[in-house]
Amino acid sequence: IDVVNNLLERIETYADHNIFLEVFAGDARERATVIDQKFAHGSQGKLAGLVISIKDNMCYSGHKVSAASKILENFESLFTATAVQRLIDEDAIIIGRTNCDEFAMGSSNENSAYGAVKNPLNTALSPGGSSGGAAASVAAGLCHVALGSDTGGSIRQPASFCGVVGHKPTYGRVSRYGLIAYASSFDQIGPFAKNVEDAALVMEVMGGADPMDSTCSQREADVHGDLSLDPQPLKVAVYKDLLNREGINPEIVAHMNAQMEQLKSKGHEIVEVDFPHLDTLVPIYYILTTAEASSNLARYDGVHFGYRSENATDLESTYKRSRTEGFGEEVKRRIMLGTFVLSSGYYDAYYGKAQRARKLIQEHTDAILKEADVILIPTSPHTAFPLNQELNDPTVMYLEDIFTVQANIAGNPAISIPTGKHSNGMPFGIQLMTGRFEDDKLLRIANAMMK
Ligand code: GLN
Repeated sequence: IDVVNNLLERIETYADHNIFLEVFAGDARERATVIDQKFAHGSQGKLAGLVISIKDNMCYSGHKVSAASKILENFESLFTATAVQRLIDEDAIIIGRTNCDEFAMGSSNENSAYGAVKNPLNTALSPGGSSGGAAASVAAGLCHVALGSDTGGSIRQPASFCGVVGHKPTYGRVSRYGLIAYASSFDQIGPFAKNVEDAALVMEVMGGADPMDSTCSQREADVHGDLSLDPQPLKVAVYKDLLNREGINPEIVAHMNAQMEQLKSKGHEIVEVDFPHLDTLVPIYYILTTAEASSNLARYDGVHFGYRSENATDLESTYKRSRTEGFGEEVKRRIMLGTFVLSSGYYDAYYGKAQRARKLIQEHTDAILKEADVILIPTSPHTAFPLNQELNDPTVMYLEDIFTVQANIAGNPAISIPTGKHSNGMPFGIQLMTGRFEDDKLLRIANAMMK
């Protein structure tokens, strides 16, 4: 209870950062009292004492969930997401729901209907997105672990901007039941933490088969034990010419080179591989995710749940006005883009082609990771950018995702670890990616590199 009270006090002092959309204070205190008693009897769960925030796109029975959208304002969940339930079953305490971009669409947290989040390390800067509040909640020390979701980088990029660890698991590792869908074949829930150990512990509890999500793998969750790495040398793949690309901050390039030297000095091998598809990744990602989003978001019609326009006069205008008034600009842009790429006449040219390209990316990623243990790339081309800067041009914002979307297109696990510090005072992460369902190996390598 002391831990919870201290964190609740600390959350108060960060109120102007807009990190939490709602703090479950009463709830958290109640749970803490119960868990204190369990401690007294020695019957506490694996995560007893761990305080966790959840992104506002995960359902928690009896609590509001809005996906940071006006269209779900005041909507209350009737059930709990599997990932969240498993944490609760092991006595974790859910402290509140964190701000994010509306329906997880964005890279700066500025698409939230409830205002942007300030980066706790520098309040003029964005915490990244879409899980900006989640990253900030850990960076500011308001909870121990945060759950975020990652469709194209929404865990790793904010982790990089806020100087914390962010893990996007293999697609199918963690159940999506109770996660509000953006692009179902890309979305994964994953943890933010200060260190790899905490992320691994949460993954162990959260992961594994779930009859409620047929896309969730039947494999048992990983059990990590201690996170040491086999002493065998690793083959670390880096993309040829990647660091010579325009637009990557020179200090990030220098840091990447230093990391490679350090790996070599520890006996690991750096292999340069061809991956000529970088420029196709963002287009593939935005065609497929907007297509899936346009279908997933069709359910917000002003009838079944959420916001209903008061200006509607009949069924047709209920749909139209509720959606027009309820969704934000970026969400509408993506729904329109998605319906366009799926429309007859364009389907083959865009959606069909992007599906085929996705397959090729998967095959090429597999081929690289057959030869190498891990791929090393930056998480983001730069450190956290100022708030109110990039919003005016959505395509500039889309290019933010160039290094992160490969893992979601291919389904591989990836992690951002905060090894870099820029002379501008801000942290930045490096990204590691391993083969599908090699999350355990990924976490071990990441843990070794953070030491
Ligand atoms: N920035 C990406 C986007 O806007 C990633 C979002 C995410 O991973 N949820 O779609």
